[in-house]
Amino acid sequence: MVEAMHSSSPALFDIIQGGMHKDLRIESAKFVVDQDLPGIAVGGETIGFNMDGTEEVMSWISDILPRDKPKYAMGLGSKPSDVKRAIACGFDMFDCVAPTRLARNGALYCSESPTERIDISKSIYAQDENSIDNTCDCPTCKTYSRAYLHHLFKCKELLFYRLASIHNLRVMIKTVENLPQFRDV
Ligand SMILES: [Zn+2]
Repeated sequence: MVEAMHSSSPALFDIIQGGMHKDLRIESAKFVVDQDLPGIAVGGETIGFNMDGTEEVMSWISDILPRDKPKYAMGLGSKPSDVKRAIACGFDMFDCVAPTRLARNGALYCSESPTERIDISKSIYAQDENSIDNTCDCPTCKTYSRAYLHHLFKCKELLFYRLASIHNLRVMIKTVENLPQFRDV
């Protein structure tokens, strides 16, 4: 009974704070580890907003953190490469409004673009019969062209927001699936 209650109860995470102050991050990390909660979150404005800063913070505290508990980067994931960098420096979990917020504003992730996304509102896409990203297996890319999505966006058609969000979320999931450590899992 106790076991069943434990497995169904929410997992409480403590949050490491301290901004870009190395001494405060280390002090906070030691305090959080001492609480011995199920998971550890790393928060603050830097995390996810500034990826160089995020990696630097993790380099200060990663030796303090237990290997057997999930490490959660709060508010991280505005583009696929951010997620790769976060996993490489030791994070296991993320959350971010960016994939769907960007989608609703016409910014669609595209691996061919140096910025990792295209702005579907631009007129260059009005006649473009390609999918958003020809490496993507999402229903939006399998079914609709950039030209059609450009048309939907310009018309403020509600369908656009759904199709665009499906694509950006699938790109994020696929980014993680394609990492070597997650293949064949
Ligand atoms: Zn897609």
